[in-house]
Amino acid sequence: MFVVGLTGGIGSGKSAASAHFESLGIACVDADQVSREVVEPGSIALQAIAERHGNGILLADGSLDRAALRKIIFSSEVEKQWLEALLHPLIAEETGRQLMSASSPYVLFVSPLLVESGQVAWCQRVLIIDVPESVQISRTMARDNNDRAQVESIMASQATRQQRLDAADDVICNDGDLQSLHSAVENLHKHYLELAKSHANQA
Ligand code: ADP
Repeated sequence: MFVVGLTGGIGSGKSAASAHFESLGIACVDADQVSREVVEPGSIALQAIAERHGNGILLADGSLDRAALRKIIFSSEVEKQWLEALLHPLIAEETGRQLMSASSPYVLFVSPLLVESGQVAWCQRVLIIDVPESVQISRTMARDNNDRAQVESIMASQATRQQRLDAADDVICNDGDLQSLHSAVENLHKHYLELAKSHANQA
């Protein structure tokens, strides 16, 4: 399977870009979604979390109280490491399963932390959606109704623009309108179809 990793900072346009790849018939695996799926009610991971922290970590409907768990791991490095040791292998396994079962000519793996987490190793190609920081801030503020300080603190916790660009094979500069973003996606889509074809021929 030819995997294209797609990433970018908050508000760069990852969702807008991946939605357009999807409209072209390309399967997308979303890292955030996978990390929610592995702790769904009935999962081994949720059972382990409830055994460690008590049923108080569950909401009334039996799902994980993410805010409560976040509070625990923010205040305890041991608990943070315990949780990571539990979830990382499960996330890796489930991501691999979804990437391998995709039926489009190539598959897009969308992750906000592709560069930070080492998930680039799963990708044949890395696509960065890039915007100047001023655009990133104004679009995120408009989308999330956040103030500037909140957006800047999220940005500070992510890879820098330069770290992302250093990891890139391809870059879409998303400082124009949505039509320009769509055209850039369509051009890369053609390129990826060719790359995926020669990748399959080599295998
Ligand atoms: P991300 O998924 O990277 O956080 P989004 O795709 O949600 O970013 O984009 C952030 C916001 O900016 C959204 O409201 C989106 O509709 C808007 N947006 C994205 N690209 C453009 C563009 N080229 N022109 C105008 N608005 C855009």
